[in-house]
Amino acid sequence: MKKLLIIVVLGLPYLGNAQEKWGQKFEQLETILPTPNTYRTASGAPGKDYWQQKADYVIEASLNDNNQSITGVETITYFNNSPDDLDYLWLQLDQNKRASGSDADMTETRSMQEKVSGMGLQSITKEFDFEGGFNITSVTTADGKTLSKTINKTMMRVDLPASLKSGESFSFKIAWNFNIQDRMTLGGRSGYEYFPKDDNYLYAIAQWFPRMAPYDDLEGWQNKQFLGTGEFALEFGDYKVKLTVPEAFMVGATGWLQNPKEVLSAQEIERFELAKKTFDKPVLIRTQEEAIFNEKNKSTKTKTWEFHADNVRDFAFACSRKFIWDAQAVQLSTKTPLAMSYYPKEGNPLWEKESTKAVANTLLGYSHFTIDYPYPVAISVHTASIGMEYPMICFNYGRPNDEGVYSDATKWGMIGVIIHEVGHNYFPMIINSDERQWTWMDEGLDTFVQSLTETRYYPEKPKSRGRADLIVNYMKGNPEGMRPIMTNSEQVLQLGNNAYGKPAAALNILRETIMGPELFDYAFKTYAERWAFKRPSPGDFFRTMEDASAVDLDWFWRGWFYTTDNVDIALDKVKWYKMDIPDSQLENKPKRSRNARVSSGESQVDENSFGDEAQKFTFKNTSNSEYREFRNKLDDDQIKLANADRNFYELTFKNNGGLVMPIIIEWTFEDGTTEREFIPAEVWRRNEQQVTKVFAKEKEVVNIVIDPDKETADVNLEDNVFPRVKKKSKFDSYRE
Ligand SMILES: [Zn+2]
Repeated sequence: MKKLLIIVVLGLPYLGNAQEKWGQKFEQLETILPTPNTYRTASGAPGKDYWQQKADYVIEASLNDNNQSITGVETITYFNNSPDDLDYLWLQLDQNKRASGSDADMTETRSMQEKVSGMGLQSITKEFDFEGGFNITSVTTADGKTLSKTINKTMMRVDLPASLKSGESFSFKIAWNFNIQDRMTLGGRSGYEYFPKDDNYLYAIAQWFPRMAPYDDLEGWQNKQFLGTGEFALEFGDYKVKLTVPEAFMVGATGWLQNPKEVLSAQEIERFELAKKTFDKPVLIRTQEEAIFNEKNKSTKTKTWEFHADNVRDFAFACSRKFIWDAQAVQLSTKTPLAMSYYPKEGNPLWEKESTKAVANTLLGYSHFTIDYPYPVAISVHTASIGMEYPMICFNYGRPNDEGVYSDATKWGMIGVIIHEVGHNYFPMIINSDERQWTWMDEGLDTFVQSLTETRYYPEKPKSRGRADLIVNYMKGNPEGMRPIMTNSEQVLQLGNNAYGKPAAALNILRETIMGPELFDYAFKTYAERWAFKRPSPGDFFRTMEDASAVDLDWFWRGWFYTTDNVDIALDKVKWYKMDIPDSQLENKPKRSRNARVSSGESQVDENSFGDEAQKFTFKNTSNSEYREFRNKLDDDQIKLANADRNFYELTFKNNGGLVMPIIIEWTFEDGTTEREFIPAEVWRRNEQQVTKVFAKEKEVVNIVIDPDKETADVNLEDNVFPRVKKKSKFDSYRE
């Protein structure tokens, strides 16, 4: 009954034409998101029956520096925690993307240009001396019986001797080898760089052993082929890895070094111990002088480095004779991990100054916004021209010229990429989203927290992504060159804008403008806590952000994540009114408003200015029918008197861009003072194209600006201002 009453009182404005253009922008997402179940709840949290598989690896591998190849044997113990019985297992053979005739190669498109470089021609003819791809030499049970396998490009199916029941585990062995590619000519997320001056290689090695494909409640086996953009979907597990490399090599890897006495000098061990207790600056464990000495040691003797890593979804490493190594401890609220860097002399003097410091700042920043960094080390490795992330270790660009000189752009680029790649420890290494499906879930969230971290620790660093105004150029571009954020990684267009810039800007707008930092940060932290060491889907993120904040964001996810619409709110019409009130009725009023004189009919209003005089409305007493059943009455005289001198502004807004967004209004009054008003996005819920609203102001308004701080990524600011500012002609600007 009460409900009916409210509807009668307020009425429902603008149901006519608007109905035809209804875009369901405020409809709930339930029809799009997966149906909640006992694995994943409607609140966005893991459910009571949430499960995930586990894969433990014991790997022994050796790197051959003479022919740049790796040979390895691994024992995988696979734990079937799913409720299902499995007849086969799928593994990922990412190196097979490098094999000639791979899907990645064959589906690459390009057109001829007037000028084609050597590198360009090479990528067409593949006429390079490189045999890429895994050579799988055996797949056996733990006790050596051959297992049947089928290789389908970048995926390998291993048929189990007997069905692997729910709750059981299975151990098996794979032997393999592959040639490491030259990153300079072939690119890629890993490979080697050759330094001709001292005849040395710097290896950054990843996707280097057959890895379990995930099996989960969302996809079953995630065995979508690796085409190059959709990165890696992986299971958590514990790793024990032995790496045999030339004697003079320094190795940095995912995990904790188990045998320092066998691979480090007594002095290096001493310095390493000092680094664990040093929180203010990096301690050099292997100096530049020592690294240069090592560059010349081409002994064929080898050393075996052993690393253990628990609860990681992957394992990568880097090694070279050329590495300098420094480290420092970082004080988090519950942990003291080590921030470390490995770099050749070519990285200096930039790297010794900035790399480990940037790692430390990243751990502080991300721990604040998500969870305390849970791993013992975080490593930044100097790798020309790429930025790429793995658990506890990442590869980063930023190299001074031959004279050791670097620009500000190089420095900020390097600091930015280190924060970004170290930040990936959180998204997706700990909060383990499916990268092969959704690039934005790791890149977008990471770019967003990167931007927050940069603001905290490097306020002077020029920003390239994350702020609302930085995404405007992309948002107002040709929609044919765009895809919604919610698009599979391989079909995304303009990857950087789509999967990094736009989600980062969207989350920034959510934090700063729509939710406010307090509600946003709590919800975002809740997402990180709920899904750390688990596998969230987009729905789990969308749902958690609402669940922990009581802010209905379905309209926001719909608009920003499922469409290519942009924000273009126009202040279309402004009308100024005052009450038409005769002097005789104003006995109690001390002062007479200069505009409140009787005017005949409607005054002529310039569409583009407030006019010299307000339009008039007449006051009428509240009719008995408006009181309906109520017995008490308003004091109409008092209301009339109170409003006799007020200015009423009727503002009509148009939604030209498609995205419904809050309307932020800045009023400037004739005395020069200003006032801000924030109208939530729900103002558009009954009419998504046009809304009209009346505001009462004591003072006369001389100027109105919508989104004065450019915080909503509005792509057209000209129509945000009233009176409109005339664009200066060329002639005008010449005169200045
Ligand atoms: Zn990234």
